[in-house]
Amino acid sequence: MRQKGEPKGKRKLGRGAVIPAVLALAAVLCYDAFLRTVTVTESGFAMDAVVTVTVKGNKKDAEAAAKEALEAIQSLEKDELSRFLESATVYQANANPGTAVPVSADLNWLLENGIDLQQKTGNAFDITLGAVSDLWDFNGESPQVPDAKAIQALLEQDRSLHIEDDCLTVAAAGALDLGAVGKGMACDVAEFPRSGSNAVREAVVSVGGSVLLWGSRDNFKVGIRNPFGALTEQMGILTTSACCVSTSGGYERFFEQDGVRYHHILDGRTGYPVQNGLASVTILTRSGAMSDALSTACFVLGYEDSLPLLIEYKADAVFIYEDGGVRVVACSLRPLSFVITDEAFHSMDSGLLGA
Ligand code: AMP
Ligand code: MG
Repeated sequence: MRQKGEPKGKRKLGRGAVIPAVLALAAVLCYDAFLRTVTVTESGFAMDAVVTVTVKGNKKDAEAAAKEALEAIQSLEKDELSRFLESATVYQANANPGTAVPVSADLNWLLENGIDLQQKTGNAFDITLGAVSDLWDFNGESPQVPDAKAIQALLEQDRSLHIEDDCLTVAAAGALDLGAVGKGMACDVAEFPRSGSNAVREAVVSVGGSVLLWGSRDNFKVGIRNPFGALTEQMGILTTSACCVSTSGGYERFFEQDGVRYHHILDGRTGYPVQNGLASVTILTRSGAMSDALSTACFVLGYEDSLPLLIEYKADAVFIYEDGGVRVVACSLRPLSFVITDEAFHSMDSGLLGA
C-alpha cells in the first residue's frame, strides 16, 4: 500500500527483485552501447587522390563498412582502372593492342556507358584520348604544347574499343583512359549494408572531385570548390539528398606557356584543352560513374549543349564561369538548393527543366 508522502508509482523492491533489476539495467546499458551511433572515418589514397570514407552507425559495423569501402576503391584502381599499374585490366588492354583482355561485369558496364556517352557527345567526351593526354604530359616535369601534327596523327588513328564475350580489345596502344569516370566509379563500388544486423545509417565517400552521399537524409551539404582559389576554398554550398556529386575543373592539372594556361580536360574533337569560358561543372546523379562522366562531358560541351544530356540522365548541374557567373540546372526530382557563399561569384539565370 502507498504510504503518505511516498511518490506515486514508487515501490519498495524486495531482495529477490534487486538482482534481476540490476541485470536488466546492465542488459539495457550494454544494448544501448552496442546500438550507439558513432561516426568513423577511414582515409587513404587512390587514383591520385585522397579518399575519405565517413560512416555513421554502431561502432563495430561502421568501422568494418568504412574499411571495406576503402579497400574496394583501392582494388578498383589496382585491378581494373589504372593506366599505370601492370595489375590493372586497363593497363593490360593498352599494353596489348589487338589482344582481347577479360573484363569484369562492372568494367564492362563502365566501358559500354562510356562509349555510349562518347557517341551522344559526338566525341567531345572520349575515353580513348589516353595517348593524346600523354603527349600533353600534364603530370610531367616540364609539360609543353605538343606539335599540332602529332596531336592530329593520334586523333586520326584507329582508337576503337571492341567488347565481346566479356573481353575488351583496344585498337591503339595507350588509348584507353578512364580518368574521367574512375573517381565517380569508386563511389559506386563503396557499398554499405542498408539492412540486416550489420546495417549502417549514413555514409559519405569522397574521392578527389567525386562525393557519394548515402542515407535517407535530404539535407546533406556539399561545399563546391572555388575554381580560382586554394584546394580547401569553397564558393558555395549544395544541400541535397542521397546521390553522387562530381566536379570537373581546369584547375585540377595545368601548365602555362607564353602566358596561356593549358589544362587537362581536352576537347575530344580537337585534342586541345577546352576553352569555352567555363571554370568548373558540378553534376549530381544517382550513379557515381555517370556523375563523373557527365561532369567532364558537360565541361567540354558547355551549358547549351549539355542540357539534353542533363534531361536524359535526370541530372542536376552547377556551371561556374571564368567571370564568376553561376548557373544551376535541376533536371531531377531530388531536393536541391545551392547557396553562393563567396561574393566574388554571382547567380545567372537558373532553370528547372523536366524531371
Ligand atoms: P575529370 O576530372 O573527371 O573531368 O577527368 C579528367 C580526366 O579525364 C583527364 O585527366 C584525362 O585523363 C581524361 N580526359 C581529358 N579529356 C577528356 C575528354 N574529353 N573525355 C574523356 N576523358 C577525358
Ligand atoms: Mg569526370
